[in-house]
This record gives sequence, C-alpha cells and structure tokens, in this order.
Amino acid sequence: MKSDFINIVFFTGAGMSAESGVPTYRGKGGIWHEYKWEEYACQNAFDNNPQIVLDFHELRRIEALKCNPHSGHFRMSEIESKKDKTYIITQNIDGMHQRAASKNVIELHGSLWRMKCQSEKIIIDDKNFGKYSSRYCKCGNILRPDIVWFKDMLDEYTIKKATEVIINADLFISIGTSALVWPAAGYANLAKDNGAYMIEINPHNTELSTIYDKIIRKKASEGLEYLVNEGYFN
Ligand code: NAD
Repeated sequence: MKSDFINIVFFTGAGMSAESGVPTYRGKGGIWHEYKWEEYACQNAFDNNPQIVLDFHELRRIEALKCNPHSGHFRMSEIESKKDKTYIITQNIDGMHQRAASKNVIELHGSLWRMKCQSEKIIIDDKNFGKYSSRYCKCGNILRPDIVWFKDMLDEYTIKKATEVIINADLFISIGTSALVWPAAGYANLAKDNGAYMIEINPHNTELSTIYDKIIRKKASEGLEYLVNEGYFN
C-alpha cells in the first residue's frame, strides 16, 4: 500500500455530518420531508418573504450547534496539520470541519455562518451563535445567507479553487456523499482522470462506487480511523 501521498483531498457530504447528528436532506429525518425548499431555500422564497427564510436558517444554525464534530472531523484536521497540502472540499454548510480546527476548507454550497449583501456584493462572517447578529447590512439592505440554494449557481471562484485542488490530488477520499448532486458529482471523475488514488468511505453503495480503487463500507469516523491505522497518511 502506497503511503507517500502529498496532495490529499477529502470530499465530504451530508453523511460526514450525519454521524454528528445533523440530518441528511434525503434520508430518514431529512429536513426536505418536513419543509418545502420552494418556501425556505431559494432566491424566490427569500424575495417573497425574507424574514421566514431567515427564521428557517437561524433554526438550522441552532440545530447545527446542538451537534459536535466527531472523531473523524478531528482525524482530518490532524492529517491537515501534518500534511499541509491537504484540502477538504465539502458540500456541507454547517461549519463542522472548521469547528474541528480544519483550515483548508472549500465550501461548495456556502455556509450557514456567512451572510451576503446582494446590493453591496459583500460577504459578512456571522459566527454569532444561533441568532444572526443582524439581518440588515449597514447599507440598509436585508442580508441573505451565503448558501447555494436550490436553482442558485455555484460561486465561480469556489469552483475554480476546488477544480485546481482536485486536478492536483494524488489521493481523493470521498466520505458520506451520495454523489447525486451536480457539479459536485463530477469531481470524483475529475480526480480519477487526473491520476488520483480513489477511496470511498460510505456504509452504502453509491452511483459512483464503481470508479473507486478502494471502498470502505463503514461510517465516516470508523473509515478514517481505519485509513490512519493502515498508514495512508504516514
Ligand atoms: P446525501 O444526503 O445525498 O447522501 C448522504 C450519503 O451519506 C449517503 O450516501 C449515505 O449512505 C451516507 N452516509 C450516511 N451516514 C453516513 C456515515 N455515518 N458515514 C459516512 N457516510 C454516511 O448527501 P450529499 O451527497 O452531501 O448531498 C446532499 C446535499 O445537501 C449537499 O449538496 C449538501 O449541501 C446538502 N446538505 C448539507 C448538510 C449539512 O450541511 N450538514 C446536511 C444535509 C444536506
């Protein structure tokens, strides 16, 4: 087994946070069974009733804070501090990787902990626990969560950065993603086409499982523990 990987990419999805207690969207307890995204998670809903959309996202923040990073999140940040060309590309918006001290985190779908002013085109960090520090920008415009909602385009700079990191990856580890959501779903193929060794950690089969060199049918924390013990990050 090869262990001299330098450019490591962890690609994480809702299953990574599920182990911390954050529900996935589609699985059991998923929020889109309870709420309609058309009313809470798209620009149209925000334009029609911003306060209801902000209430919903405040609730997501409060729920996320009831959960804590698990040992797998901490394993990843330890690997990052040992191998500085390690990146985490996540589809999650809950900030769990940063709470486990990871720094090289690319958030494809934005973050619950940032707001943006659509008038001034500025992004504001808002780590105030639970409630938003303010729902309004200094310019008076209402702030919207800096999240890629349904029908939104991904941020161009974020895609560029993620693509660059994936093209350079010699080890690509997908954890807890069903690989259904595009363009994120294309990233595993991009890594493989550029020569990365491919590992999938997921208790269940995914549509992309066949492209991986190694499949670990375990939970995120157990799968990461296994790879550490096998010496993949020595
Ligand atoms: P998904 O819900 O489509 O798939 C989750 C995957 O995780 C499944 O393949 C499942 O088998 C796997 N899984 C479940 N428990 C696991 C565990 N303990 N360890 C490892 N894997 C486990 O999730 P997705 O592919 O990330 O796509 C959903 C979209 O919804 C994403 O775009 C994401 O932005 C968003 N989302 C984010 C959060 C969050 O921020 N925590 C939560 C739900 C959904």
